[in-house]
Amino acid sequence: MSDKKIDLSLIVPCFNEENNVKLFFGEVAKVFAGKDFTYEFVFVDDGSKDETYKNLKELYDNEKNYNIQVISFSRNFGKEAAIYAGLNNAKGEKACVIDADLQQRPEVVLSMLDIMKNDPDVDCVTAYQESRSEGKAMSSVKSMFYKFINKVSDVEFKDGASDFRLFNRNVIDSVLKMTEYHRFSKGLFSWVGFNTVYIPYTAEERATGESKWSVMKLMKYALEGIISFSTFPLKLSTFVGAFSSIASVIYLLIVLIHSLCTGVSITGTTGIVFLLLFIGGIQLLCLGILGEYLSKIYLEAKDRPVYLVKNHLGK
Ligand code: UDP
Ligand code: MG
Repeated sequence: MSDKKIDLSLIVPCFNEENNVKLFFGEVAKVFAGKDFTYEFVFVDDGSKDETYKNLKELYDNEKNYNIQVISFSRNFGKEAAIYAGLNNAKGEKACVIDADLQQRPEVVLSMLDIMKNDPDVDCVTAYQESRSEGKAMSSVKSMFYKFINKVSDVEFKDGASDFRLFNRNVIDSVLKMTEYHRFSKGLFSWVGFNTVYIPYTAEERATGESKWSVMKLMKYALEGIISFSTFPLKLSTFVGAFSSIASVIYLLIVLIHSLCTGVSITGTTGIVFLLLFIGGIQLLCLGILGEYLSKIYLEAKDRPVYLVKNHLGK
């Protein structure tokens, strides 16, 4: 490791990427060779169960001409925590978050750097996927999510924007000021503001291995984003609650008037069962929404660390 000033830190979250980390290193070294900036790798091994750490340590031991940091977590804390750890330890004037699986090409980082170089007013360059490689159904579900979250949140979310971003020091330090436990990075990056330029990119096929995102994980992630950046669901529960109360009063009035006009005494077990289920369901829904927020507050109040480090090479 040299003590020279570092222009760019590449933050690379790795979870079970044993066959990709060396490939990734090689590609970046090749693409960045002879360029007029200094850079470092900040690999964050997010509690991988395979040989990822061993391979990263080999890189660290053998590639002494490169600036390499390897941070390994005590367990899997998730990509958001890995990004946070990387930014926390980045020595560069700028930092770029990039996946280890080569779906995001290092050439795009060069374009991002050019944009920042040509316009000093740009603080952040974010790559977004113009066309998604996944199926039509998944693609439209994701678009719907973006439409919804943009409606209910004050923060702007660009459809398809990835974590593949280049930031300057100002943005890095601002993101680091947010120490919250539930880190929905896309939201945090938008929340801090600054001048962001969006550029399209095409995600390549994964070099090796498979995506860590299951439908369940994606749904949890989407809910996380909505709860973290909007209080709309809380307002919704108030609205739904008020609506159902008013509706039941109206129903009662109709039944009363009907019984007065026709002289038929009120029975109607079906109606009662329906009402019981309807109001009970709404109450449970509202309680559920409250519970979601409460559980978040509970975890934030504990103030637990976002991640725990087991080893840190090149600190
Ligand atoms: N990743 C991580 N921790 C996790 C899941 C993923 O650090 O818990 C890393 C992963 O190794 C990869 C990046 O985050 O470098 C993106 O993950 P993946 O390729 O699975 O996501 P996709 O590209 O399918 O959206
Ligand atoms: Mg990937």
